Amino acid sequence: MSRREELLAFADTVKGFMPRNEGLALHHYALEHSSVGSATWLEVGAWCGKSAVYLGSAAEETGSVLYSLDHHHGSEENQAGWEHFDPALVDPHDGRLNTLPTWQRTIADARLEATVLGLVGPSLVVARHFAQPLDILFIDGGHGHDVAWADYGAWTPKVVVGGLLMIHDVFENPADGGRPPFEIYVAALESARFIDVAAEGSLRVLTRVN
Ligand code: SAH
Ligand code: MG
Repeated sequence: MSRREELLAFADTVKGFMPRNEGLALHHYALEHSSVGSATWLEVGAWCGKSAVYLGSAAEETGSVLYSLDHHHGSEENQAGWEHFDPALVDPHDGRLNTLPTWQRTIADARLEATVLGLVGPSLVVARHFAQPLDILFIDGGHGHDVAWADYGAWTPKVVVGGLLMIHDVFENPADGGRPPFEIYVAALESARFIDVAAEGSLRVLTRVN
């Protein structure tokens, strides 16, 4: 089994909300877009590391680094009483969700610790102190209106011309899911900074043109 096959099979075993076809598309477009060299990629929304393994596999192959950003306390829909709550992820110390230990275990088991680097904190605070231009940005953080728009405003200007912007959970039909990821996807296109490259399930892939 090749290293790539090993990682893509391992990704299947990681907890998360990334269907396999969309994870493979993340990996595919990241790889297709990149030439070997030291590029900087960042994902907003790490959870337990599933998308980080799909992207991390492509990052490793290209000598890139993926920052995987999360405060690790879950989004609204992950909290007790909501649709995507997982009691196994609650830290008995303070009763809050904590996905960081699981994320760390995922990245260690994948042997991606020199490729996927954790950034622990609120997205906007990190963005304010993050000056490095991004060759790939994957937005999969909070899906509420304010949080999604804040991520769009704070992170998309950091994508280099020629770089990729990927957005997850884009549902045009409100019956399929919350609309903010769709709204920021439309905003990216209407800004004329980004054009469509591809779509797979709820994943949208765009590239920055100016
Ligand atoms: N990309 C992951 C899933 C991410 S789920 C995968 O496919 O495996 C969304 C994550 O966004 C949650 O872990 C939540 O804690 C995080 N999140 C939501 N709002 C955030 C914010 N403002 N700052 C940092 N992380 C945030
Ligand atoms: Mg998602």
